[in-house]
Amino acid sequence: MSNENKSIHEFDFNLICEYFSNIERQGPGSQEVTTKALSFVDNLTDKSRIADIGCGTGGQTMVLANNVSGNITGIDLFPAFINQFNANTSKLGLEDRVKGTVGSMDNLPYKQKELDLIWSEGAIYNIGFERGLKEWRKFLKPGGFIAVSEATWFTEERPAEIEEFWQDAYPGIDTVSNKVAQMQKAGYIPVAAFILPENCWIEHFYVPQVEVQENFLMKYAGNKAAQEFIANQRHETQLYYKYKEYYGYAFYIGKKM
Ligand code: SAH
Repeated sequence: MSNENKSIHEFDFNLICEYFSNIERQGPGSQEVTTKALSFVDNLTDKSRIADIGCGTGGQTMVLANNVSGNITGIDLFPAFINQFNANTSKLGLEDRVKGTVGSMDNLPYKQKELDLIWSEGAIYNIGFERGLKEWRKFLKPGGFIAVSEATWFTEERPAEIEEFWQDAYPGIDTVSNKVAQMQKAGYIPVAAFILPENCWIEHFYVPQVEVQENFLMKYAGNKAAQEFIANQRHETQLYYKYKEYYGYAFYIGKKM
């Protein structure tokens, strides 16, 4: 990659970070869904060690922290998200047991059998569902839990437009039954799988972006990268409204055997 391309790429990357720093969650989800997924996890105590992988600015991590008493580390690749994450924990007085760290999900800083729970909302696609489940398993104690949300097909067949969009964006998208089978093969007992309700996408993800998009376009008037990025976000939103009966997110909760 030439230096010129690299600087353009880095510029886009900063724009994307800035954009998503303005919303509480960087993916579909809600407080209710995080709490529901957590209800399938047993045996947590104030000694438990929990990792939230691809935590973003920590929307779901703070919900976890309010519902469990153990120690939580949030890991994300983007330093800007982790800065905001740690500012949030300080504001909430949680900094003694909730910490954000910059790191990558393909090189996690944990020892074998160190963790009681691995959490990851709307992020495992970055490494791939099957690969993530397999590679992260060693960090869990026997009997430990994993809970991840992941793009999922709701039907066996889909209109070509949405099929093509996802084949390009994330070919790992699959049906609930196939994802559950992948979880079993990766060495977990599938404990639960449930579909995220539409409000996780609309109320908690797309609607908060409307105002952010307008402000962003004003701030970066004339900036092509910013305009293209917003156009893509809007296209993705429109596809969701058009095809939401065919796909969405599901939570998958497994227990290490
Ligand atoms: N869990 C948050 C964020 C989801 S967006 C929420 O639900 O709101 C996906 C997140 O994965 C982003 O914050 C992104 O920075 C992070 N990410 C992408 N690649 C990563 C990697 N290799 N390692 C760790 N985090 C990564």
